[in-house]
Amino acid sequence: MDSDLKKACNSCLELKLLSDFSKQSSSKDGRKYRCKDCDKRYFDNYYAEKRPKVLEGVLSWQKNNKIKVSEHKKKYRDKKNLENNV
Ligand SMILES: [Zn+2]
Repeated sequence: MDSDLKKACNSCLELKLLSDFSKQSSSKDGRKYRCKDCDKRYFDNYYAEKRPKVLEGVLSWQKNNKIKVSEHKKKYRDKKNLENNV
């Protein structure tokens, strides 16, 4: 009976209570194969790895858009100057 309430984590291989596993409806027993502790560790690592890239992407996006914005402003200003000169 007790074994029904416990499950071995696929990541740390520890036998843990089912309540130590997050729910996952697609799973056979309704729980994730990885315990909550390992899940947390996994996501911490995942985001620690991804964060610099995401930040880099945002920065380059801002850089590209800043160029666009300043080009647009320059065009507008040139047009204005041209009109003023006439
Ligand atoms: Zn685990």
